[in-house]
Amino acid sequence: MKYRSFGAVNGIVQGVGFRPFIYQLARRCRLTGYVVNTARGVHLEVEGTRSDIDDFFTAISEESPPLAQIHSLERRDGITVRDDNRFSIQKSLLGDVKSTLISPDVCVCDDCLRELKDPRNRRYRYPFINCTNCGPRYTIIKDIPYDRPLTTMSHFEMCPSCMAEYENPDDRRFHAQPNACPDCGPQMEIRDKNGKPFVCKDPVSETIARLKKGRILAIKGLGGFHLAVDAENPEAVARLRVRKHREEKPFAIMVKDLEAARRIALLSKEESEALDSIRRPIVLVRKNKAHGLAALVAPRNRFFGVMLPYTPLHYLLFSEGGFRALVMTSGNLSEEPITIDNEDAILRLGEIADDFLIHNRDIYLRSDDSIVRVVDGALRQVRRSRGYVPVPVFLPGELSVLPAVLAVGAELKNTVCLTKGPRAFLSQHVGDMENMETYEFFKLTITHLEKILEIEPKLLAMDLHPDYLSTRYARERTDLPAQPVQHHHAHIVSVLAENGAWGPVIGIALDGTGLGDDNTIWGGEILVADLVSYKRAAHLQHTVMPGGDGAARNPWRMALSYLYRCYGSDLFQLDIPFVKNLDPAKSKLVTRMVEQRVHSPLTSSCGRLFESISALLGICLENRYEGQAAVELEMTQDEEARGDYGFEIQRGPEALLLMTDPIIRAVVGDLEKGLAPGTISRRFHNTMIKLLTSICIELRDETGIHEVAMSGGVFQNATLLRGLTHALQGKGFRVYTHSLVPTNDGGISLGQAVCAGLKGSR
Ligand code: ZN
Ligand code: ZN
Ligand code: FE
Repeated sequence: MKYRSFGAVNGIVQGVGFRPFIYQLARRCRLTGYVVNTARGVHLEVEGTRSDIDDFFTAISEESPPLAQIHSLERRDGITVRDDNRFSIQKSLLGDVKSTLISPDVCVCDDCLRELKDPRNRRYRYPFINCTNCGPRYTIIKDIPYDRPLTTMSHFEMCPSCMAEYENPDDRRFHAQPNACPDCGPQMEIRDKNGKPFVCKDPVSETIARLKKGRILAIKGLGGFHLAVDAENPEAVARLRVRKHREEKPFAIMVKDLEAARRIALLSKEESEALDSIRRPIVLVRKNKAHGLAALVAPRNRFFGVMLPYTPLHYLLFSEGGFRALVMTSGNLSEEPITIDNEDAILRLGEIADDFLIHNRDIYLRSDDSIVRVVDGALRQVRRSRGYVPVPVFLPGELSVLPAVLAVGAELKNTVCLTKGPRAFLSQHVGDMENMETYEFFKLTITHLEKILEIEPKLLAMDLHPDYLSTRYARERTDLPAQPVQHHHAHIVSVLAENGAWGPVIGIALDGTGLGDDNTIWGGEILVADLVSYKRAAHLQHTVMPGGDGAARNPWRMALSYLYRCYGSDLFQLDIPFVKNLDPAKSKLVTRMVEQRVHSPLTSSCGRLFESISALLGICLENRYEGQAAVELEMTQDEEARGDYGFEIQRGPEALLLMTDPIIRAVVGDLEKGLAPGTISRRFHNTMIKLLTSICIELRDETGIHEVAMSGGVFQNATLLRGLTHALQGKGFRVYTHSLVPTNDGGISLGQAVCAGLKGSR
């Protein structure tokens, strides 16, 4: 007895080898019928015995290709039997293919790796080997539909052998758009720092030889250039630091495989899985004391940022070069976007790199390496880019009523977000919007995403801050209404949205800075909020920020401001190392600024509080990179130490005040007693956890709300994130934290989009 069933598969099922997979599966299950791409995903009909059809549907979810992401699989049984004699892949109707969800760029697959290492294979050692299951996608697509002529592979004409693979549904390179081989595809080339080609037979082994000599290589990768040196060579790493003007911020490293990673770092099961996933992010992992790499790779830091090879070239470098680890840091000038173009690289990185390993497959859209870490057993995004973008964040179904929104993000760690129905597409990391190069990249990202996602925004969402470049862009775009969203509210909405929650919640938004609705600088905020509205229920006590933004680069100035508030000019009599080491002239200048309030706004910033404690303890007085003092404060803590400080919550005119004076005084007291910075750091962390837990309890008593959402850059502090989550759960709260999008400002565009969209649709 024959049956026929219909199936509709939604998700990332196009351009990822899904139809050939269905084709092969149907044949294996002895079924006839067809499969076709439609605007909504993949549709299919199968005909055969009941049990064969059952097997077929089970296998769809269990065996789907690595790049596919199935979000729904609908099955309808008992449709009319057609008696067709075979299974076929039907041509998609013109126009249909356009609504594709595009796959991110992922690492080379095992099948391709086997060929790469096989001397009898025609792609032996070919650095651009790829197939339907692996290789570049997002970074090479210029427009949709995702077809070779609309990618940066367009000028390579496939040779007959490649074409035969491309056209054969049984081949794993069927419709693999970047398909190529040494005869017809991209090639590598070595250039010197002036751009002069170095003619050699084997650029890969030449690169290895140069790296071994301690030279700095600019290597063109998947989403941009890397600057690479041998991580075991202290002199080479030091030279890279000097030339890149990057004094202390840790460099990312690449190692051969998981085993090699375990030799330099302590890995949990979740961290190993993250390292080894096809998305291949940089994973922040705890250093193994006997790591044997140059100290300057990650100075003053307990963690390494580690990734595994992801392009065929990376695999060749490691298998043939035998490196323990290579530094692989973004090829850019300080805060500019990562370089992607050959000529541009030689122009801009010529002062840093000794040599260039380039190739002629263009990168259309840059994409930095993603950075993740595991906290409390969950993966947390620090920088969400290559491998993750453009996979959307799926919003609760009720939000499909939202108009299409373009949210332009904040100033630092900018990302943008476009929504379409219940899907929110976050862009890759755009960067700090402090120079024209980044701004240009920001605009390109917007136009590109609007095009390939086919989203015509009806509404813009932006920060309240009028001077952010992103806000200015939104204001200048007069074709659309623009809705401002307060920075910390956007943080909270972002964490609610990714958790599919609606609120009202007690929202704890802790970060460096964001403009408040009272025109002061916020950053330590407790909001009672839902997706559209908020009330500022409590905040950290205000402190003067001497010199405004300059205080963020100089935690010692901010620390001085806290001391001045507590002790007035008596602070100079305090018997603590911080005061004794102050430069008298400079510190007078700062206290005068605080006193007279010259260029010195008030802030309730929590980031500044952490940095000031770090400076007070003598851990880090100046930030060489954003947030350094806070990072090192956490690193320094003695996890065995006990105790905490008293705190105080006062009733202010509008909101409750979380007083920081008692904390500062207690820290000074411990310093006077000569306690170790590690102990004091631990006590400070404990105090913040207690203080925040108790304000939540107070607000729960007042409002009856027992859900808490936490967001903002300060929650990159794992001690706080883990400690506060557990403390609140212990008191019966339900706690929402980030894992799909960054807790820092990289996640803020999602919150802006959802909040503005909901306001706009009312
Ligand atoms: Zn492959
Ligand atoms: Zn070929
Ligand atoms: Fe923020």
